[in-house]
Amino acid sequence: MARLVNCPTCAKQVEWKPENRFRPFCSERCKKIDLGAWANEEYRVSQSAPTEDEESSLPPIPLPKDGGN
Ligand SMILES: [Zn+2]
Repeated sequence: MARLVNCPTCAKQVEWKPENRFRPFCSERCKKIDLGAWANEEYRVSQSAPTEDEESSLPPIPLPKDGGN
């Protein structure tokens, strides 16, 4: 019985088996996305990242949700 893992990119359940050469990703696409995100992390860190989980005294600033980069 194959072990199921969650794709790190899309959280889809993937069978961990030798035939799946993109494991733990569900597809080549997700693997590439993850590698891209990994590269983005580095450049994101150098910028002032929004501290959503930080309890600050600053008033909430509405962020544009355009999803672009
Ligand atoms: Zn995926």
